[in-house]
This record gives sequence, structure tokens and C-alpha cells, in this order.
Amino acid sequence: MGRNSGGVGARGGLQPGDSSYKGKIKNVESLIKIKDPQVYKAVGEAISRYHSVLGVRQRKVKLADLGAGTLGVHVTAGGVSEGVYLNKKSFNQKKAKIVSDTRRGYASGWHTKTNKPIAHTVTHELAHATWNEHLTGAKHRAAGKEIRSLYTQWRKDKKKSGYGSYARTNVSEFWAETVTKAVHGKADKYTKKVKAICKKYDL
Ligand SMILES: [Zn+2]
Repeated sequence: MGRNSGGVGARGGLQPGDSSYKGKIKNVESLIKIKDPQVYKAVGEAISRYHSVLGVRQRKVKLADLGAGTLGVHVTAGGVSEGVYLNKKSFNQKKAKIVSDTRRGYASGWHTKTNKPIAHTVTHELAHATWNEHLTGAKHRAAGKEIRSLYTQWRKDKKKSGYGSYARTNVSEFWAETVTKAVHGKADKYTKKVKAICKKYDL
């Protein structure tokens, strides 16, 4: 797989398709292999915080070599969540470098703003594991009806603030970015609603 195109690289942050990744996942390793202890700590804190805010247990999160030039991906296989993979090329860099890469995603208006750049990617991918449009379980389908209607309402809302354009890509990215905002960003009616949906459908 090729390098990022100029446009995508300049945008910073996650790349389109991170919720339905079909590329290669190689050399999967435990998170404990993360080189910078500060990055390892931030990733662990993100997973714990996800659990404490949304009541959703920790999902499979690993390091891997990914084909795409993205920070992380979530894989759905056979209608169920398979796992979250964080790109070693990104997560084995120094903390400051990962933070600056993600901040480019905020500055360009691509990512929904949060105050936790490293946790952002982890939380975004965990959100895909909690719900995305490829999950086929009964509770996921039921939740999907509410999420799609929320997405329609959100798209029409001219007064919403803090959201990046990536959230407009599709309903799965809307969900992941709004859940990330719910955990690390400024609360609003959409962040409250996604938390309520997690609880209502026991996602
Ligand atoms: Zn995503």
C-alpha cells in the first residue's frame, strides 16, 4: 500500500476507512511493547476512561503494522467486533510527535476537538468496537435506528460546535467522533445522547 497522498497527510489524524479496514494487519503485539512509557500510560488511561464513562468493558486493543498510513483501525469480521489495532509506526514514536500529528487533525478542522490527542485515537477506535454500521447483533441493529436518526438530526444542525468534518463521513464516523467528544471533549446534546444509547442498548 502506498504512502499517504499529500492531502490526506496534511490533514493529520485518522484516515477514512478506519472503521472498515480490510488491509493487512501484521506483527500484532501487546500494548506493553509500546516504546515510550508516556505513550503506554496514555493509551492505558484512555482504555480505563472509556470503561468508566461509558460502562463498556475493555475490548481487544493491540499494536500492529498496518498497511494504511493511519493512526489506528477497527476491524469488524462476520458482523462482530474483531479488534482495535494501533499503528506501530505512529504509537512507537515519542509522545510529543503523536500529539503534534493529532493536533494537525484538529487544526485542519478534520477531527472533532478534544483535549486528549493520544487518547483520541484509542477512544475513537473503541467507539467503533462498541457500535458501527457493520455490526449485525440484535442490540447493534436496534441501537443503529436511533444512531442513524441522531446522525440525520446532527447533520441538519447548524448550531452544533466542536465537530470536525471527519464526523460527516458516514454514520460510523459520526458515532466514533461523538463518543470521543463525550469522553474527552465538551458535552452537548449529542454527546449526552450517545452515552444514553450505550446504556439503553447495553452496547
Ligand atoms: Zn473511525
